[in-house]
Amino acid sequence: RQRTLAILKPDCVRKGLIGEVLRRIQDAGFTVKAMKMTRLTKQTAGGFYAVHKERPFFDELTDFMSSGPCVPVVLEKENAIEDFRALIGATNPAEAAEGTVRKEFADSVGENIVHGSDSVENGKIEAAYFFAESELV
Ligand code: ATP
Repeated sequence: RQRTLAILKPDCVRKGLIGEVLRRIQDAGFTVKAMKMTRLTKQTAGGFYAVHKERPFFDELTDFMSSGPCVPVVLEKENAIEDFRALIGATNPAEAAEGTVRKEFADSVGENIVHGSDSVENGKIEAAYFFAESELV
């Protein structure tokens, strides 16, 4: 089984959608291995998204990710990386498939409800950003 690191982003929390989104994640067969509520700072958001630091949207992205609490979650499932990205849909909700989380709940490419790791390797790095090994059940 693979693991992926998801983040229920600040817009998800503000909209009262933590339960709804977790329901969909669990209904899709993912097991929660670790979860917490936390608030990133502009600096820790920048660390998490360091690969994007030269991108024009980096400032907007780190402002948004530090704008309120978020819920990082480590999830486990067979084929977790690909299956989670299919569940959430395209980065831009306008391009996301019907029935995906972003299509239903996201307002814009910037405020898109949820993050999912793009590879097993990055999933490990991202999980370690939020959780100690001892916090994974
Ligand atoms: P995530 O990494 O959050 O799962 P992703 O892998 O689907 O998203 P990336 O291209 O890696 O998409 O972009 C990372 C995040 O940066 C996006 O989720 C989005 O919040 C933000 N982002 C991407 N493109 C833009 C943009 N043009 N304007 C504003 N924010 C953007």
